[in-house]
Amino acid sequence: MGRKFFVGGNWKCNGTTEEVKKIVNVLNEGQVPSQDVVEVVISPPFVFLPLVKSLLKPDFHVAAQNCWVKKGGAFTGEVSLFHSKFKFDESCLCSAEMLVNLGIPWVILGHSERRLILNESNEFVGDKVKYALSQGIKVIACVGETLEQRESGSTVDVVAAQTKAISERVSDWSNIVLAYEPVWAIGTGKVATPAQAQEVHSELRKWLHANTSPEVAETTRIIYGGLQLSFLMNVQSSKGKNSLRSFYANVNSCVLGYGAVMAAVLARVLQLPFWRIHEHVLCMYLFLIAFGIPVSGSVNGANCKELAAQPDVDGFLVGGASLKPEFIDIIKSAE
Ligand code: PGA
Repeated sequence: MGRKFFVGGNWKCNGTTEEVKKIVNVLNEGQVPSQDVVEVVISPPFVFLPLVKSLLKPDFHVAAQNCWVKKGGAFTGEVSLFHSKFKFDESCLCSAEMLVNLGIPWVILGHSERRLILNESNEFVGDKVKYALSQGIKVIACVGETLEQRESGSTVDVVAAQTKAISERVSDWSNIVLAYEPVWAIGTGKVATPAQAQEVHSELRKWLHANTSPEVAETTRIIYGGLQLSFLMNVQSSKGKNSLRSFYANVNSCVLGYGAVMAAVLARVLQLPFWRIHEHVLCMYLFLIAFGIPVSGSVNGANCKELAAQPDVDGFLVGGASLKPEFIDIIKSAE
């Protein structure tokens, strides 16, 4: 049985009402393959969930970007932000019950930004997956290794441990999509090639085969999501009076871009041997950023076809590009 292609659009913490309406318009008017060929799930920030759900045509489904690990209650003012360093179990939430109430069928859980910034552990993510499923919400469960973990050769162990924390709590995988998102593509200059994506996807499928069942391994969709690196994309996407703030907010990705430019200029001016050694690499890098080509492991309109052709890549979880018209091309890569 074939696995239906799956494309998730993770808008992260972006958008105004006007922008949301524009993106929804692009989606509604885009010529995309039918629902028999591709399942498309759009994940706006919490506050826009009802709006997006009401405006999107029924071919597309909607996902929340997180939900709480248990039933909601006395947590005044919280939506999804909490920090385990402050108070682990007394905060958050948008509850799974609220999603059910709003008719939101999907949720993204265990995204690397939550694992890394908000210290969500494998076990905590596993508990959330279990709870969301128990309430009838389908889950896009994210796994992925950091640069340090990749370089120490523990990629497969890390994604396996993340997947194990889910499989220990869940027996029915039919409502789970597994998203592999290599964290090392953030701010490092390193790019996940389609072959590297395929390699980890295939290991994940082998892991599912050995530790769940051959049927789960065969039917579970494993989708790929890279992470944005291009500093220029961030600068370009900032507008008007907010541009300086957005620019600094994206400092992580900027450091790499400006670091490379500064290093190149300095090395050239001072005639350092560094320039001679790295001139080709730097020239290429400068060329890429000058023309605004995302230096990135992210899924985009240009790389999606090759990624989609990998046998174990069953779709994408798209961040930055899901806010742009090229998202339509990414959906079309299902064909
Ligand atoms: P990106 O994000 O496509 O912007 O790299 C993917 C994700 O974080 O889900």
